Amino acid sequence: MDENYKRSIKRAYERQTKKVRTREVRKLLEENSKRRRQARAQGGARQRDFAPRDEDEDGDWQAFQKMRPQAQLDLSAAKRAAAERAAPETVSDSCASALVVSVARDRVRLRLAGGERGEAELGGAGPRPAVGDEALLSELEDGRLRLVGLGPRRSVLSRPDPGNPRQERVLAANIDVAVVVASVVRPALKPALIDRFLIAIERGGARPLLCVNKSDLLADEAAREEVRDALAPYRGLGLEILWTSAETGEGLAELRAALAGRTCVFVGHSGVGKSTVLNALDPERARDTGTGREFDGKGRHTTSASELVELPGGTRLIDTPGIRSLGLWKIAPDELGQSFADFEEPAQFCRFRDCRHRSEPRCGVREAVDAGRVARERYATYLRILESLD
Ligand code: GDP
Ligand code: ZN
Repeated sequence: MDENYKRSIKRAYERQTKKVRTREVRKLLEENSKRRRQARAQGGARQRDFAPRDEDEDGDWQAFQKMRPQAQLDLSAAKRAAAERAAPETVSDSCASALVVSVARDRVRLRLAGGERGEAELGGAGPRPAVGDEALLSELEDGRLRLVGLGPRRSVLSRPDPGNPRQERVLAANIDVAVVVASVVRPALKPALIDRFLIAIERGGARPLLCVNKSDLLADEAAREEVRDALAPYRGLGLEILWTSAETGEGLAELRAALAGRTCVFVGHSGVGKSTVLNALDPERARDTGTGREFDGKGRHTTSASELVELPGGTRLIDTPGIRSLGLWKIAPDELGQSFADFEEPAQFCRFRDCRHRSEPRCGVREAVDAGRVARERYATYLRILESLD
């Protein structure tokens, strides 16, 4: 692309984004970048990973560059849209905030500060809201609410958008605990998927908990022992593991206690019993299934979209659609090893500092695998994920 042309569309883009950002959003962004600068100064690099995407000016700019030239040059249309978004009919500039409990294409459902339910339309600018987000709102003349920004996210769980892998899809925001529900049989335990979930959770800043469900289907102690062996690498990582059965009630009290007072997102392969476990934790939800509490108003409880429910006592549960495979959002091949905590110690013996533990000579991780100090399955998963990143 011609340099002048590039510069001119970049300037146009900057003018555009400046205009659509409301004062509040700008303030938020400034606070955020101040925080990030401080975190960087203290050597805390993690903060970056779950900063709202909107602040990622370079990322925005790159996405903008990839747009069709027509869309870039149609500035008058963009201006009109921006003017609409800037909403001359906006009466309150004061920003009420509310909790996002579900997200549809053009609006979000909210739990307002007073506890009552509400709805807001999307303002157009800024990152797409996710369940668990703090929505910053403006009130329109006719009393409708409009989402004008998001509070800073202290954690996220995200994956690449299945329809557009360049785009981040945040499944849930501001979560304390991410519960990975797995089943021992029907469907069988899938350690490779658990590994992927753990990486996504760790990178998003939440605490993982593994819920091993359908324990009632294990015929005897030997079958239990087999599953226990398969889970050994995770125990070694210090991962909290709870065995549950929605059928016999085993482990449900412990699970409830582990989640008390926290915001929790549930993830898992479809069929593992995620909905059944959620129903057991939230009798209200079990009753509501099929009564039209859900957002689409069709009288079905849809698990195609995430929804947040609040239990008495302040526990918040977020359901997510069953996931068959999980793409990982923005991991550089060099960084992948860092997400395998069990590689950390042996990796100190790798000859090369940037060793990818693949075919490099004198690799500490491969030696540890051969010596049985790192689980072979974990290493196999690592290689598979590494390949998918290249
Ligand atoms: P989801 O796709 O993960 O939400 O799975 P569901 O909650 O729909 O459960 C899938 C199937 O597994 C259903 O037939 C449930 O009744 C069954 N199921 C769920 N939990 C258990 C359990 O702990 N033990 C047994 N035996 N079956 C279960
Ligand atoms: Zn190595």
